[in-house]
Amino acid sequence: MKIVGLTGGIGSGKSAATEVFESLGVDIVDTDKIAHQLTAPGGKANPLIGAAFGPEMLGNAGEMDRQKMRAMAFDNPAARQRLEEILHPLILAQAQSDLAKIAISKAYAILAVPLLYERLTFRSLVWRTISIDCTEETQIQRVIKRPGLSIDTAKKIIAAQAPRSIRLQLADDVIHNGASLSSLRSQIETLHMRYLGLLSGADRCA
Ligand code: ATP
Repeated sequence: MKIVGLTGGIGSGKSAATEVFESLGVDIVDTDKIAHQLTAPGGKANPLIGAAFGPEMLGNAGEMDRQKMRAMAFDNPAARQRLEEILHPLILAQAQSDLAKIAISKAYAILAVPLLYERLTFRSLVWRTISIDCTEETQIQRVIKRPGLSIDTAKKIIAAQAPRSIRLQLADDVIHNGASLSSLRSQIETLHMRYLGLLSGADRCA
């Protein structure tokens, strides 16, 4: 089974895209979801986060205080790096374990990673990469609808991610997600058929 890496900037539509792939029967391993599980109540990362940043970064149920952590991490590159050092190995281990559980009869699975091009460990796992693309203005308009996310924070998050031009250069396949959800769906249906074609026959067993 091949692994296709899917990435894109914040609010580009990675989750919307993975939902479409899932509806086509493709298995998804989403590192954002894994990160949420690791930092939810009972999550493996919480004790390490408490030790590194202090108990004030944890909520009443021991979960990471997402809003506080985001505000701190995006104002403080050293804190951001420390958080990544804690989360990255845990996310990688869980992603590998989840990928190993996918039936080998499947032609391919999607590994969704926001920082796919920035993290060589993830990049090295995948056969090819998809970039979900839209303008920064569209990204910002989408994400400021989320509670607690200001334009300023959205811009800082975008600045901390690989520039759009780099993602476009490095992608094997680009899905344009500046228009409707039905356009997103039809591009993904076309790509899915292309992947099945590429992986049919002898290639699929390779
Ligand atoms: P993040 O990086 O924050 O996890 P994401 O890349 O997964 O974001 P989504 O959550 O899929 O992005 O999309 C952000 C928001 O934009 C969501 O509310 C989603 O429903 C909406 N959205 C995504 N694509 C489209 C589209 N083509 N048309 C309209 N709304 C869209």
